[in-house]
Amino acid sequence: MEGRETAVLRCSNCGLEVEHTMRYAGRLLVSSMCDNCGFTWHHEESDLRTAYVHDLESRIWTKPGRWLRRLRRHPVETALELPAALARQPFKIAREIITVIRG
Ligand SMILES: [Zn+2]
Repeated sequence: MEGRETAVLRCSNCGLEVEHTMRYAGRLLVSSMCDNCGFTWHHEESDLRTAYVHDLESRIWTKPGRWLRRLRRHPVETALELPAALARQPFKIAREIITVIRG
Protein backbone atom coordinates (compact mmCIF):
# COMPACT_ATOMS: atom_id res chain seq x y z
CA MET A 1 0.00 0.00 0.00
CA GLU A 2 1.06 3.54 -0.33
CA GLY A 3 1.39 4.72 3.20
CA ARG A 4 1.89 8.21 4.48
CA GLU A 5 3.25 8.93 7.90
CA THR A 6 4.66 11.96 9.60
CA ALA A 7 7.65 12.26 11.86
CA VAL A 8 9.65 15.10 13.34
CA LEU A 9 13.06 15.14 11.67
CA ARG A 10 15.84 17.67 11.09
CA CYS A 11 15.64 18.97 7.51
CA SER A 12 18.91 18.84 5.59
CA ASN A 13 17.79 21.90 3.57
CA CYS A 14 16.34 24.43 6.07
CA GLY A 15 18.03 22.93 9.15
CA LEU A 16 14.86 23.02 11.28
CA GLU A 17 13.46 20.12 13.28
CA VAL A 18 9.93 19.92 11.87
CA GLU A 19 7.35 17.40 10.70
CA HIS A 20 8.17 15.54 7.52
CA THR A 21 5.64 13.64 5.41
CA MET A 22 7.00 10.26 4.45
CA ARG A 23 5.60 8.11 1.62
CA TYR A 24 6.00 4.36 1.74
CA ALA A 25 5.46 1.56 -0.76
CA GLY A 26 4.98 -1.41 1.53
CA ARG A 27 7.85 -1.16 4.01
CA LEU A 28 10.05 0.88 1.68
CA LEU A 29 10.54 4.62 2.17
CA VAL A 30 9.94 6.28 -1.21
CA SER A 31 10.25 9.94 -0.24
CA SER A 32 10.35 12.34 2.68
CA MET A 33 9.15 15.95 2.41
CA CYS A 34 9.89 18.75 4.86
CA ASP A 35 6.59 20.36 5.86
CA ASN A 36 8.40 23.67 6.44
CA CYS A 37 10.35 24.31 3.23
CA GLY A 38 9.03 21.56 0.96
CA PHE A 39 12.46 20.03 0.36
CA THR A 40 11.85 16.45 -0.74
CA TRP A 41 14.27 13.56 -0.51
CA HIS A 42 13.58 10.74 -3.00
CA HIS A 43 14.85 7.19 -2.78
CA GLU A 44 17.33 6.81 -5.63
CA GLU A 45 15.30 5.73 -8.66
CA SER A 46 17.78 3.16 -9.94
CA ASP A 47 17.68 1.32 -6.60
CA LEU A 48 14.00 1.88 -5.69
CA ARG A 49 12.45 -0.65 -8.08
CA THR A 50 14.95 -3.38 -7.24
CA ALA A 51 14.56 -2.76 -3.50
CA TYR A 52 10.75 -2.83 -3.83
CA VAL A 53 10.79 -6.17 -5.68
CA HIS A 54 13.01 -7.71 -2.99
CA ASP A 55 10.78 -6.34 -0.23
CA LEU A 56 7.63 -7.61 -1.95
CA GLU A 57 9.15 -11.09 -2.36
CA SER A 58 10.02 -11.15 1.32
CA ARG A 59 6.51 -10.07 2.34
CA ILE A 60 4.87 -12.69 0.10
CA TRP A 61 7.03 -15.51 1.49
CA THR A 62 6.45 -14.55 5.12
CA LYS A 63 2.73 -13.70 4.80
CA PRO A 64 1.31 -17.23 5.43
CA GLY A 65 3.38 -17.55 8.62
CA ARG A 66 2.23 -14.17 9.89
CA TRP A 67 -1.44 -15.08 9.30
CA LEU A 68 -0.97 -18.46 11.04
CA ARG A 69 0.50 -16.73 14.10
CA ARG A 70 -2.44 -14.30 14.14
CA LEU A 71 -4.90 -17.22 13.81
CA ARG A 72 -3.36 -18.92 16.85
CA ARG A 73 -3.53 -15.76 18.97
CA HIS A 74 -6.92 -14.41 17.79
CA PRO A 75 -8.72 -17.17 15.86
CA VAL A 76 -12.18 -15.63 15.53
CA GLU A 77 -11.11 -12.08 14.65
CA THR A 78 -8.47 -13.30 12.21
CA ALA A 79 -10.83 -15.72 10.46
CA LEU A 80 -13.29 -12.87 9.98
CA GLU A 81 -10.63 -10.46 8.68
CA LEU A 82 -8.85 -12.90 6.36
CA PRO A 83 -11.24 -12.88 3.34
CA ALA A 84 -11.30 -9.07 3.13
CA ALA A 85 -7.53 -8.88 3.61
CA LEU A 86 -6.96 -11.35 0.77
CA ALA A 87 -9.35 -9.46 -1.50
CA ARG A 88 -7.47 -6.18 -0.87
CA GLN A 89 -4.02 -7.59 -1.79
CA PRO A 90 -4.14 -7.02 -5.59
CA PHE A 91 -5.30 -3.40 -5.12
CA LYS A 92 -2.79 -2.79 -2.35
CA ILE A 93 0.10 -4.09 -4.45
CA ALA A 94 -1.09 -2.14 -7.52
CA ARG A 95 -1.09 1.09 -5.48
CA GLU A 96 2.42 0.31 -4.20
CA ILE A 97 3.70 -0.31 -7.73
CA ILE A 98 2.21 3.02 -8.89
CA THR A 99 3.97 4.74 -5.98
CA VAL A 100 7.29 3.11 -6.91
CA ILE A 101 6.92 4.03 -10.58
CA ARG A 102 6.14 7.66 -9.70
CA GLY A 103 9.06 7.72 -7.26
ZN1 LIG B 1 13.07 22.08 5.40
